[in-house]
Amino acid sequence: MKILKSKNETRREILQEKAEGISIGFVPTMGYLHDGHLNLVAQAVKKCDTVVASIYVNPAQFSPKEDLSTYPRNLDRDLSLLQKYGTKYVFCPDDKTMYGPKHLTWIVTEKLATKLCGKSRENHFRGVTTVVAKLLNIVQPDFMFMGEKDFQQVVVLETMIADLDFPTRIVRCPTIRESDGLALSSRNSYLSPEERIRAASLYKSLLMAKNLYSTGITESERVRAEMTDLIEYNKGIVDYIEVIDSETLESIPELEKGCRVALAVKFGNTRLIDNMEI
Ligand code: AMP
Repeated sequence: MKILKSKNETRREILQEKAEGISIGFVPTMGYLHDGHLNLVAQAVKKCDTVVASIYVNPAQFSPKEDLSTYPRNLDRDLSLLQKYGTKYVFCPDDKTMYGPKHLTWIVTEKLATKLCGKSRENHFRGVTTVVAKLLNIVQPDFMFMGEKDFQQVVVLETMIADLDFPTRIVRCPTIRESDGLALSSRNSYLSPEERIRAASLYKSLLMAKNLYSTGITESERVRAEMTDLIEYNKGIVDYIEVIDSETLESIPELEKGCRVALAVKFGNTRLIDNMEI
């Protein structure tokens, strides 16, 4: 496995492979890898000849109040896991490499970026789309593997790719969960043991939504209220619970087949997100 720090070297290595007709799969991450990330790598290894991962904690997607400086990191462990799972290249740039002092250009997916997480995380998706556009221009992959755990992120990036004609296809991969249903996340490491137990209520509340729907209760308000009760009983502070159309991310008044229930909840200082297809 080769560790690449410069943009030019990364482009050169990958273009050489592409010239030989080899397909490139790309897994962008912010590191502190868990089985959710590693499943993306495993899917990429299955589908593509060469797998490139990136590890970069992108400052542009954090607001000044957020956890950029404390975001968990463990590069040595990440690299050995990526190697074990069959990654050929890891791009690990530093901030100077990714953002020059004159950086002025931002990509905004209007409408989608201001819904759900975009309401409380101003500029978050602008940071995500801009860094992913840069990574796609550097790596030039055929396929990019992304988790449905970050559902809004996948929809925003699919839209960016379609609107700006990037020659890359996104492969959506399912959310990987702990045995009690909590979606794996690097941020789970912030939870106290008690918060960790209580955080399983997120998955339970999503299952509850699905069950209510299957018993004929489809009114979004009613489902949101029941989910809120369960989460608040577990001391979670709800940022949002929304029943949304899976393409537009617009809130809808009734649950219907194929819609999503998405949520963001804080346990202590840790903000967690999750979602489920109905
Ligand atoms: P991050 O390192 O949080 O930026 O995540 C990098 C990629 O891993 C994104 O495509 C995420 O959606 C994906 N991911 C994170 N957690 C999970 C999970 N529990 N299951 C599946 N994919 C995940």
